[in-house]
Amino acid sequence: MKEFQIIEQYFAGQGPMRKDVVLGVGDDCALVQPADDKVIAISCDTFAEGTHFLSDMPAADVGFKSLAVNLSDLASMGAEPAWMTLALTLPEIDESWLKQYCEGLYEIAEYYNISLVGGDTTRGARSITITVNGQVPESMALTRGGAGVGDWVYVTGTLGDSALGLDILLGNRDAESENKEYLIGRHYRPTPRMLAGQSLRGIASSAIDLSDGLISDIQHVLKSSEVGAIINVDQLPLSKALISSVGQEQAIEYALAGGEDYELLFTVPDAKVGALTASLNYAGVNYTRVGQITAGRDLELSFDGRTYVPQQNGFKHF
Ligand code: ADP
Ligand code: MG
Repeated sequence: MKEFQIIEQYFAGQGPMRKDVVLGVGDDCALVQPADDKVIAISCDTFAEGTHFLSDMPAADVGFKSLAVNLSDLASMGAEPAWMTLALTLPEIDESWLKQYCEGLYEIAEYYNISLVGGDTTRGARSITITVNGQVPESMALTRGGAGVGDWVYVTGTLGDSALGLDILLGNRDAESENKEYLIGRHYRPTPRMLAGQSLRGIASSAIDLSDGLISDIQHVLKSSEVGAIINVDQLPLSKALISSVGQEQAIEYALAGGEDYELLFTVPDAKVGALTASLNYAGVNYTRVGQITAGRDLELSFDGRTYVPQQNGFKHF
């Protein structure tokens, strides 16, 4: 199969087709029609074999996750997904891998209604780069920079599951089969918190998605917003599967330093807590208050009122 045949078979006219795509895959550029009253949110993430995924990761899960991690960035800005491009580098044409990759990719693309409008297909070490484009009403976009002293700090979902899932896959840990399935599922198929992000428009003062671990990612908010924070580690939302597999002490470590949860961390001024409750309960989003923004620049961790010293500090690529 030649490059153009692959494009024809797997990428042209595949997945959900939005009405605002004027011209999709097949020309030198795609043409899209943005909404009048919105700005475009753009984000790009690479997913490289060996670095971001293990070589035996099921191809359908690779497809799902390579888009999920990008959608998570749109979610944290409060944007709605619209269009994406896919730069795919493959060592050889493995049609069975490609078919399954596309199944996972289009499954999540359908769910969030994002159209594949272009890309590039090349040979080399297996790597996937997706650029997502979303839309958000100007002035409604959530950034890392708006947290104010006294704002409450929240996270969606539960933390640490994905990192334990990875440790199980690597053979560093074990768990009961039911928990194992859930934890590996959280690692392979993270849920981008799209509805949560959109529901936080006009309510959250700042937001970020948790990709490198809470301790690491919250620092970006503190830096951009020029504030500090106290996090009560005894309040971190932990799944039953995580606690029953490693115990509460280690579960807290996974929640603080483990990467790839793709949950949202956000801050809300006290005056908007009522609006937050109404909006997120209406959207059916699970969320937990875990701390508060403070004056100064430091991140303080506390357990039952005493200073908590973590064992690790989150994932750094370099
Ligand atoms: P060019 O030489 O102009 O870059 P290509 O031959 O690389 O064109 O691509 C032809 C068309 O197929 C373009 O519209 C491009 O966006 C699209 N395309 C190529 N690879 C992919 C892919 N992996 N996913 C989606 N669209 C792709
Ligand atoms: Mg090209």
